[in-house]
Amino acid sequence: MNKYLYLLLAFFLSQNLIGQQTYLHCGSLVNTESGKIEKEITVIVDKNEIISVEKGYINPPEGAYLYNLKNHTVMPGLMDMHVHIESQLSPKAYENRFRMNKADVALQATTYCKKTLEAGFTTVRDLGGTGVNVSLQTAINRGFVDGPRIYTAEKSIATTGGHADPTNGVRDDLKGDPGPSEGVVNSPEEARKAVRQRYKNGADVIKITATGGVLSVAKDGSGPQFTMEELEGIISTAKDYGMTTAAHAHGKAGMERAIKAGITSIEHGTMMDDETIDLMKEYGTYYVPTISAGMFVAEMAKKEGYFPAVIVPKALSIGPQIQNTFAKAYKNGVKIAFGTDSGVSPHGDNAQEIQFMVEAGMPFVEVIISATKTPSEMLGITKLGSVSKGMWADIVAVEGDPSDDVTKMMKMSFVMKNGVVYKKP
Ligand SMILES: [Zn+2]
Repeated sequence: MNKYLYLLLAFFLSQNLIGQQTYLHCGSLVNTESGKIEKEITVIVDKNEIISVEKGYINPPEGAYLYNLKNHTVMPGLMDMHVHIESQLSPKAYENRFRMNKADVALQATTYCKKTLEAGFTTVRDLGGTGVNVSLQTAINRGFVDGPRIYTAEKSIATTGGHADPTNGVRDDLKGDPGPSEGVVNSPEEARKAVRQRYKNGADVIKITATGGVLSVAKDGSGPQFTMEELEGIISTAKDYGMTTAAHAHGKAGMERAIKAGITSIEHGTMMDDETIDLMKEYGTYYVPTISAGMFVAEMAKKEGYFPAVIVPKALSIGPQIQNTFAKAYKNGVKIAFGTDSGVSPHGDNAQEIQFMVEAGMPFVEVIISATKTPSEMLGITKLGSVSKGMWADIVAVEGDPSDDVTKMMKMSFVMKNGVVYKKP
């Protein structure tokens, strides 16, 4: 560097005129590019960006912050590709939608946002709520609320009586006839309108319910709920607006229609078979397993009165299958993007999914890649997914070696999002 430039830089640094830097001394660092765990690394952060990753422990200059994470395992901020940040399942969930105003939903959700962030999840994809999720995204981005970066679907899109029809199970005189604005469509034209409405309302991604669901007040969770033409209407319109798409799906036929229509990701995917797996590989479709949700609803279904009666048999049969489906999809080379369906399972327990994935045969580092690099690729975010130069400073750490004992991932001790530290050892 030119001598005068160097002196000028030294002057600015000494006067604190350049943003204060943060040094992290990392005992272990999960490198999501190489798939290896590296030892004794220094990560240097300036404002919201990682500006350098160096071998060895480099002493910070005077005035810089230092975090000693020498007995920690450091990794990129985790990304959960399936949450519902507005709400959390409880026996009261079905009546709450008649009692809670939007402000109540929003204020309650701020606690879920905080729990999610403190669990090390610095980015989430919200796959459907009432629209409050868009306001939460804004509030977090403006710094009013502590929470993860949110990529939101706003409201899900369903067909009449389908899994995300907001009036399922409601008394006749309250049912009305919801349409594209409410996310209910019954033709390719309505499908396009619903996507454009989501775009107008501030959605980043489009979520559809390609088959029935476990938790809707309806009999069956397996059959397809959109025609091919409706799916094409949704997915091609979403592409026009630069939005990716996600399909909730349990049954094979609904899943395969969505894959052929070009959906970005399949959520849950419970009844996929070898044919479905081949299709997903052919079309490059991502799989978001949500084992946590399956486990949680199967457990709760055993409690008397937790769910309406119509839901119990679905929860008991579909719930426990997802872990096996995941094991099979992983073994056969389907692209896996980490997702929990938190909001069904409790917010803040997101890392339990890591445990379920390791249990099902995916090595620890691959699980971390599926929760960092793979989601950033799926969403097309080039600045997230690894701890390397030029990335946004989303960095988290747990004490000890979680590759040896994965339960350590439940005790996140350091959380930095966009260069701001929210939790420290
Ligand atoms: Zn969901």
